[in-house]
Amino acid sequence: MNGYRQLTILGSTGSIGRSTLDVVSRCDNISVFALSAYRNSEMLLTQCLQYEPRYAVLVDPEQHQQFKRLLSESGCKTEFLDTEDALELIAAHEQVDVVMAAIVGAAGLASGLAAVSAGKRLLLANKESLIMSGKLFTEAAKQNNADIIPIDSEHNAIFQCLAETRSGLSVTDRRFVDKLVLTASGGPFLNTPKEVLAKVTPEQACAHPKWSMGQKISVDSATLMNKGLELIEASFLFDLPGTAIDIVVHPQSIVHSMVYYRDGSVLAQLANPDMRVPIAYGLAFPDRMASGAEVLDLTRQPALEFSKPDVDRFPCVSLGRAALEAGGTAPAVLNAANEIAVAAFLSNRLGFQQIPVIIEAVLSKTPCEPAVSLDIIQGADSAARIAAKELI
Ligand code: NAD
Ligand code: MG
Repeated sequence: MNGYRQLTILGSTGSIGRSTLDVVSRCDNISVFALSAYRNSEMLLTQCLQYEPRYAVLVDPEQHQQFKRLLSESGCKTEFLDTEDALELIAAHEQVDVVMAAIVGAAGLASGLAAVSAGKRLLLANKESLIMSGKLFTEAAKQNNADIIPIDSEHNAIFQCLAETRSGLSVTDRRFVDKLVLTASGGPFLNTPKEVLAKVTPEQACAHPKWSMGQKISVDSATLMNKGLELIEASFLFDLPGTAIDIVVHPQSIVHSMVYYRDGSVLAQLANPDMRVPIAYGLAFPDRMASGAEVLDLTRQPALEFSKPDVDRFPCVSLGRAALEAGGTAPAVLNAANEIAVAAFLSNRLGFQQIPVIIEAVLSKTPCEPAVSLDIIQGADSAARIAAKELI
């Protein structure tokens, strides 16, 4: 994509949203068309003053009055959109070229889908939307000529390693690929004994050794559900079965993932753990731009280690694999149960090791249907949320 482009950021006040704005500040051919946040009106206003988007969306109705007042007092020219479909509107607006999907959880589904249905380039950080809707999402992109560029560092790495083999976005030749290997940092409890895991707190779970991220994905990284989710994400993105996707623990988070080819060649993408690298890649593709990330110096790196994940201490990896194999609405059920269990853990209503127990119970009691429509998927999502809340 060459030339000047207009960008919408869904979830601009979050960790990925702020990193995206940081990258945008470094280039002069991207302008911010719209920003959105859930309820942080002050941060959204600061961003509006700095980036002067045409539109801003604040989802929580309780914050609307305050935001309107702040906006008019500041003299900012940004227009506040407060309609129910405001997120979809800024995602699909005809003047927008690129959409960063950085809302957390299922809440990002409708706007992400609106962006691909309108043929936008979608920079996909919000993995949950793809995991829930799978083929429905990728087919909508295909039918409307929308490019999905994964921002999740592992999938971005694989995308880069596959991109080496092709001239256009759509012609990846799967026949040459033996398997994908997703790397996992292992999270803050990589070496924590099982007995101790029972007592870990939300603060400990959110203190990730390598990445600074939002709370939900930090807990997902601690339980390794993040890898279970990423397995499903990779399967949908790259159209490969779960049997062709392995997971390897790599605590240094330097090798972001790998593609194994037929002839024994393995391509990997390396970088310091900084989300601005995949974000800059997605914004500039097929060109390259400066991201602000520190240059990787392998001579000053400790040894790079790789090992198999411990599925006994971290059963969420196997739950992700099981949901992918079950297919249909199972990934949506897994995702919804996980969102509810993680929220309960974060508010001290559920123990860390109960997270997989709840998810497994919800998966086994919720019937799995073919995920052929958004209604069916949203029905499965709601049923799983209710079931998880009852169990908790
Ligand atoms: P975050 O919690 O820091 O930010 C979430 C953003 O979404 C905020 O702007 C918030 O206002 C908005 N939001 C929350 N609930 C909303 C709702 N109901 N409706 C509309 N907007 C809402 O999260 P994050 O760490 O930036 O992660 C965002 C997404 O990117 C997640 O799907 C996560 O899995 C994925 N991701 C993040 C990282 C990372 O390093 N942070 C890495 C890979 C993938
Ligand atoms: Mg990731």
